[in-house]
Amino acid sequence: MENCIFCKIVAGEIPSSKVYEDEDVLAFLDISQATPGHTLVIPKEHVRNVLDMSADTAQSLFARVPKIARGLQKATGADGMNIINNNEEAAGQTVFHAHIHLLPRYADGDELDIRFTAHEPDFPALAALAQSISQEVQA
Ligand code: 5GP
Ligand code: ZN
Repeated sequence: MENCIFCKIVAGEIPSSKVYEDEDVLAFLDISQATPGHTLVIPKEHVRNVLDMSADTAQSLFARVPKIARGLQKATGADGMNIINNNEEAAGQTVFHAHIHLLPRYADGDELDIRFTAHEPDFPALAALAQSISQEVQA
C-alpha cells in the first residue's frame, strides 16, 4: 500500500534489520528498542490490524511467532518475553500495517513496565458481558 512504511520495508524501499523472512511473513528489529531485541513480526500483505485480518493471514502470521520468539530468546539470552499487538489508536497503534511486538524481558531489569490493574470481580456483570460477546463472535 502506498505511503505505508511497513509495505516499504517489505518492498526493500527502506532499510530494516531483518531477522526472519519467508513468502508471507517478515520480522525485523523495531527501530526504537523498547527492550534489547524488540522485534516486529508482520504479514507481507498489507492489512490494517488483527480486527481487519482474514483467518488465512492470521494463520500464517501467528504460526511463525513461536519459532521467531525462540530464536530471539536464544540470541538475546532473555529470561522471558511479552508478545503484544496494538489495534487502533485507542490501543496505541501508530503504524497501520498489522504487526506483533516481541519484547524480550530481562530478569535483572529492563525499562518496560506492563501491568494490569487488579479489580474485584463482579460475577453477574461478567456473565452478561460474556453472553453478549459470545453472541457477536458467533454471529
Ligand atoms: P505500534 O505503536 O503501531 O504498535 O508500533 C509501531 C512500531 O513501529 C513502533 O514501536 C515504532 O518504533 C516502530 N517503527 C516505526 N517506524 C519504523 C521504521 O521505519 N522502522 C522500524 N524498524 N520500526 C519502525
Ligand atoms: Zn502496509
